[in-house]
Amino acid sequence: MKLGIVGLPNVGKSTLFNALTSAKVDAENYPFCTIEPNVGIVPVPDERLNKLAHLMKPEKITPATVEFVDIAGLVKGASKGEGLGNKFLSHIREVEAIVHVVRCFEDENVTHVEGKIDPVRDIEIITLELMLADLDIVDKRLSKIEKMLKSDKSYEKEINILKEIKNTIEKELPLKNLNLNEEELNIIKGLNLLSLKPVLYVCNVSEDDLIKGDENSYVKEVKEYAKKENSSVMVISAKIESEIAQLDKSEKETFLEELNIKESGLDKLIKVSYDLLGLMSFLTAGPKEVRAWTIKKATKAPQAAGKVHSDMERGFIRAEVINYKDLLECEGYTRAKEKGLIRSEGKDYVMQDGDVVVFRFNV
Ligand code: GDP
Repeated sequence: MKLGIVGLPNVGKSTLFNALTSAKVDAENYPFCTIEPNVGIVPVPDERLNKLAHLMKPEKITPATVEFVDIAGLVKGASKGEGLGNKFLSHIREVEAIVHVVRCFEDENVTHVEGKIDPVRDIEIITLELMLADLDIVDKRLSKIEKMLKSDKSYEKEINILKEIKNTIEKELPLKNLNLNEEELNIIKGLNLLSLKPVLYVCNVSEDDLIKGDENSYVKEVKEYAKKENSSVMVISAKIESEIAQLDKSEKETFLEELNIKESGLDKLIKVSYDLLGLMSFLTAGPKEVRAWTIKKATKAPQAAGKVHSDMERGFIRAEVINYKDLLECEGYTRAKEKGLIRSEGKDYVMQDGDVVVFRFNV
């Protein structure tokens, strides 16, 4: 799962990205790292893993991960090659969702590229660039398949959808409001249109505003804007997050308590992103490894098994499933089995969040 961090220059993207990728995590086997300067793999915080590890004493704990890409260089005119332009737009095409950072803090020492703080205008600048980049793609595809239509009528449907999309972009209206159905989305899936990707707006507020807990007027404006297009919003202080990222687990807890904050913004951001993409985790737990695996919600048992190993999907016999809370309460598989809490589930079983699973399969 890959998320792209976008926003105008100087809104706090890099500060946030650096905090995400440098955060100290308590288990040493967490495989998070920065692959490239602007790409980082970040573990999904999951208390269940630590609890299961306490019980199983595994050699290794492996959390689920999300990948963040810091996409710098988006400015007014990017789709026309201004700034770092199109190269970066192609980076965004690969991501499954967009984290749009919006400046909601005042600081005279940090210049705003557009002069004055105005989060909704900032959102509109970036959104328009993404739409124009999409328009380019749609135009190219249309001129190609309109020629092919003469010999192949099957392109008619796609042409109609693309014309509707083009029309919407030219009116500067959000593509999401077109409410394309699954079949239509499938037809244009290969184009990877940016404006159709889910967006999470992250309001970067000052430390004071975060601690006070009051929503400043900038945040209110963003929330109103996001509501219209059904996008999610969260409030964060990138500066505080970059400080928290330097702390180890117990220091972090004390720090959050002092500021009267329940959860670090980063932890919340990762969880919200996971949700935004319709993902969930199932768990495997044994003496070698306690691990979380990412699947789409409503995935069935054989496909979940396929995440662990393709052989397990091919030769799937059944899944032995227990909820992680039951497993903890029974202090292990032996008592859980005696109490009849381990269920045997077949190929139609829909995986549930928090399932701890052993897959049985033919080799
Ligand atoms: P980017 O261009 O969007 O990646 O922005 P940066 O993360 O590089 O931040 C630009 C400048 O704003 C840096 O000098 C940061 O220290 C500062 N900055 C980032 N977040 C905050 C914040 O929450 N409050 C304040 N006061 N400054 C911030």
